Amino acid sequence: MTKPLVLIVEDEAPLVTLLRYNLEKEGFSVCEAGDGEEALVQIAERKPDLVLLDWMLPLVSGMEVCRRLRRSAETRALPVIILTARGEEADRVRGLDSGADDYVVKPFSPSELVARLRAVMRRAQPAATQDILRFADIEVDTVAHRVSRGGAPVHLGPTEFRLLRYLMLHPTRVFSREQLLDAVWGHDVYVEARTVDVHIRRLRKALNAKGATDVVRTVRSAGYALDRADP
Ligand code: CA
Repeated sequence: MTKPLVLIVEDEAPLVTLLRYNLEKEGFSVCEAGDGEEALVQIAERKPDLVLLDWMLPLVSGMEVCRRLRRSAETRALPVIILTARGEEADRVRGLDSGADDYVVKPFSPSELVARLRAVMRRAQPAATQDILRFADIEVDTVAHRVSRGGAPVHLGPTEFRLLRYLMLHPTRVFSREQLLDAVWGHDVYVEARTVDVHIRRLRKALNAKGATDVVRTVRSAGYALDRADP
């Protein structure tokens, strides 16, 4: 098995040395970036499995790096742990808001950091590696791009397929139209929120073709969720 690659984005050299030593000892491969711009280059080139991101960085801030990662389809799911200084409570909240998976407060014990890092990687994995998603009697084969309900094939257009796959990755969670646009259509595409309704309608029609229970719940003024509908 190849070692997971961790990118350390930190401008304090002694801390980089400490992190590298501890991560390598724990079986990780390590690469480094000393500022936010370099971080984005390294992420594109080395494709790390996780990013340890210092908040206070030269050139491009940790928050901005995190936001950019979340905006791009390629790096949206890349696990990010933010390193913040003690007392920066507001920064921590903003860090999680900007899409980070977790944060660790400096000074931290290396063993605590490694434990958090493993936990974030574990959480990140199922979504990325699970080939078959199941919810109620619906099955989505994310590799073969096949969908079935109660064993019978369901034919979906590409957008409906992506929409269903995304909802199946987070069953029962309510997503706003904007969140679905970001996740399924991508940040860079300009689509009206109403478009989501159109595709949800098509998805419902395809899934419920044989009179099956509707599993797509409309949450008034909030959005949509995949849910077991009331009988
Ligand atoms: Ca710093």
